[in-house]
Amino acid sequence: MFSLKGKVALVTGSSRGIGRGIAISLAEAGADVVVNYAGNAKAAEECADIIRSKGQKALVIQADVSEEDQVKAMFAEIMKEFGRLDILVNNAGTSQDKDIFAMDKADWDRIIKTNLTSGMLCSKSAMEIMSEQKCGRIIFISSVVGERGALYGHIHYAATKSGQIGMTKTLARTAAPYNITVNAIAPGFIATELFLQTHGEEEMKKLAASVPLGIGSLEDIGAAAVYLASDEARYVTGATLDVNGGNNFR
Ligand code: NDP
Repeated sequence: MFSLKGKVALVTGSSRGIGRGIAISLAEAGADVVVNYAGNAKAAEECADIIRSKGQKALVIQADVSEEDQVKAMFAEIMKEFGRLDILVNNAGTSQDKDIFAMDKADWDRIIKTNLTSGMLCSKSAMEIMSEQKCGRIIFISSVVGERGALYGHIHYAATKSGQIGMTKTLARTAAPYNITVNAIAPGFIATELFLQTHGEEEMKKLAASVPLGIGSLEDIGAAAVYLASDEARYVTGATLDVNGGNNFR
């Protein structure tokens, strides 16, 4: 139903996990996709191969999205290859299993830079392109944690996920005159490496049992991204779409 034929998408952190799932879903809907990664080249190439097997173009770019010069170089490469960018998904992110007693300023700075500063840098570069095109879609991958707080004291992670929602609402106002929408997806528990590292296998089972619809899949988040990226979502902006199986009701 939602076609992304002819669109070019960048999904940050799409070598693994939710980002990879979104990249594949966008390709299945007809988009060409830029696969970005930080260090895991093999996983990024695997994702690109899956996209190509679906008949779409894939471009793999290594860039730490928390570093301004690397972000600028990535966008320049995208423009050189495709000459346009229609969809940006700010997905790259990380976490750490520390509460306020255990964390120090270096921990705080690292999580803020990776999860939040990256979204500002990539959105700025995307806005420069999309405002000229007079169309575009920007999607932040926030979290249920950004709405109800983290369960185990991860204040740095929670601050970034709430911060992405604030950025979404504010950027939506700036972007609207250019026919660009800006939205967030707030996933609940999705079984990725990040989730397993932060919570462990046993804890994950307990958490799954606490959610009415259990743990979510990569496809659940991918479908939400396809909708928000589509023409049909043209009147949706500044919104946070909960995809959490009943984890949190607002
Ligand atoms: P994973 O750890 O499975 O994957 C993280 C991805 O981000 C990898 O592709 C990694 O690249 C990339 N990445 C990390 N740091 C950078 C960086 N500095 N520059 C570029 N790429 C980077 O995480 P998830 O898939 O679980 O999480 C993805 C997003 O979803 C995050 O924003 C997270 O907060 C959010 N989220 C996750 C939930 C979950 O339950 N899993 C729930 C709610 C939100 P590489 O492979 O090269 O390391």
